[in-house]
Amino acid sequence: MLTFEKTTKLMDMKFCQSCGMPLTEEIKGTNADGSKNEDYCIYCYKDGAFTRDCTMEEMIDFCAQFVDEVNKNMPRPMTQEEYKQMMRQYFPMLKRWKSSQ
Ligand SMILES: [Zn+2]
Repeated sequence: MLTFEKTTKLMDMKFCQSCGMPLTEEIKGTNADGSKNEDYCIYCYKDGAFTRDCTMEEMIDFCAQFVDEVNKNMPRPMTQEEYKQMMRQYFPMLKRWKSSQ
């Protein structure tokens, strides 16, 4: 099974450091000065602040509903529970959650 990390290297893609979704140019978050933020997506980070104040587990629950979106980028479709398990392993490596562990 491919991990997010391996997928990142294979596809040379960036991922939001809060929710783990693929970070494309169109969905990059914005800094307080209006410039693009290179680490977070627009759903997580807007105008220099996080849009949702939540724990890592709450973020995992929130993201699990978008599993169908994620599956479009996956070689093999995951169930919501598989996706949650993957996020629990992957999220502690993300910038936003690293320091709070
Ligand atoms: Zn995000």
